[in-house]
Amino acid sequence: VNNMTVKMPYQCFINGKFEDADNGKNYDTINPTDGSVICKVSYASVGDVDRAVAAAKEAFDNGPWGKMNPRDRGSLLYKLADLMEEHQEELATIESIDSGAVYTLALKTHVGMSIQTFRYFAGWCDKIQGKTIPINQARPNRNLTFTKKEPLGVCAIIIPWNYPLMMLAWKSAACLAAGNTLVLKPAQVTPLTALKFAELSAKAGIPKGVINILPGSGGMVGQRLSDHPDIRKLGFTGSTPIGKEIMKSCALSNLKKVSLELGGKSPLIIFSDCDMDKAVRMGMGSVFFNKGENCIAAGRLFVEESIHDEFISRVVEEIKKMKIGDPLDRSTDHGPQNHKAHMEKLLEYCETGVKEGATLVYGGKQVDRPGFFMEPTVFTEVEDHMFIAKEESFGPVMVVSKFKDGDVDGVLQRANDTEYGLASGVFTRDINKAMYVSERLEAGTVFVNTYNKTDVASPFGGFKQSGFGKDLGEDALLEYLKTKAVTVEY
Ligand code: NAP
Repeated sequence: VNNMTVKMPYQCFINGKFEDADNGKNYDTINPTDGSVICKVSYASVGDVDRAVAAAKEAFDNGPWGKMNPRDRGSLLYKLADLMEEHQEELATIESIDSGAVYTLALKTHVGMSIQTFRYFAGWCDKIQGKTIPINQARPNRNLTFTKKEPLGVCAIIIPWNYPLMMLAWKSAACLAAGNTLVLKPAQVTPLTALKFAELSAKAGIPKGVINILPGSGGMVGQRLSDHPDIRKLGFTGSTPIGKEIMKSCALSNLKKVSLELGGKSPLIIFSDCDMDKAVRMGMGSVFFNKGENCIAAGRLFVEESIHDEFISRVVEEIKKMKIGDPLDRSTDHGPQNHKAHMEKLLEYCETGVKEGATLVYGGKQVDRPGFFMEPTVFTEVEDHMFIAKEESFGPVMVVSKFKDGDVDGVLQRANDTEYGLASGVFTRDINKAMYVSERLEAGTVFVNTYNKTDVASPFGGFKQSGFGKDLGEDALLEYLKTKAVTVEY
């Protein structure tokens, strides 16, 4: 591919070794650019989950990881990040072929941010500290409590297909830095960078059993991970309905700790006093970045009436300049949707928008070429009760509504009228208005005069039915630790 020979690991990675699934089954992973089969991948079963969990438990209980000097653990994670960097072009190529992400974005974001994430959490390893708390009981000044932060044990991680490597990195890096071992299930449709990562982890010297990767289905591998009695925590990114199922299974099996990064329908409010060039550029990015397969994508744009028509015509002008094509071509702006069923769902979503009476200003159709390409799409005159105003598309569909000039409280009320609360945004040059709005938006992330600006040091996660528990930043580390309080009298 592009003069690069890419060697794909394709088997389950259990206890430091690549092995076939114990039932011998495989499945095809598909290239969304042309619908061809990339390669066969092992289809893990319940027996493989049990073996992987046993390996992770042995590595945690008796292996070197949990008891390792935290500084040495950090060095191994830095080494892993260095190896990922050495292989970044190969990882980006695999990501691009398997997920349809354009190569330039895959290199910078999917792979680049994954490397940064491992470096960031490697740096935390020797900075995990407790507190000393004065307590005042029977013998004043002769008692104290100190707290220790301890790893949880074996953790399960289940991730979606939109940023396959980055979702792996966001959760695994925090989990490993805290001293846990893990079993990870990538999405069935995008298993390849996770398996390449497994290979690099062994090369970096991460001890066997610490990282286990099982390609396979949610219904089988994912369900067994949720139910498994030896798993202490499950980190999940995916849809809200599956997140609820997982939480139920985790509670009923052994009350595992869970963190859930779920769906969104993030509002972006654009006021007439914004920097229009920036609002157009970033408003486009808020919807079309990674072909809309972006959990924090702005699912609904509210544009102040007096600039609405200009905003839309400038967006359409920009869409016409976007180059749709092979994601490996360095000049491509917009690649194929991740897989066929997703593209079909998006086409249906657009048909629903038209049927409901929203105005289809641009796109809405499959691109006339092989593969799963969808036109960047713009709907205006979207009313609050419509399906496309309420439900996430997870694709390149801009859903725009007007609001009356000056009606700040009215637009805020509409923006918050959703069960989701992942992200949100506001464009205005008025700092007081920006602060007023950002304080009232009910979302885990508020972007002011920017969008999509995630950083490894900033906590990321939702409110309401977008879930709870953060990825990234110090908060993420705490998700993978437990606090022990030791009280001493002397
Ligand atoms: P999904 O259907 O919920 O799947 C996510 C993962 O869960 C996949 O690995 C899937 O396996 C697995 N799974 C499915 N059923 C399961 C079960 N019963 N038990 C355990 N695991 C199970 O979501 P998706 O369609 O892949 O991803 C799109 C959704 O993810 C969107 O709603 C999007 O908003 C959300 N998302 C959120 C964030 C965030 O940070 N908040 C980030 C990215 C995506 P299979 O591979 O077999 O399907």
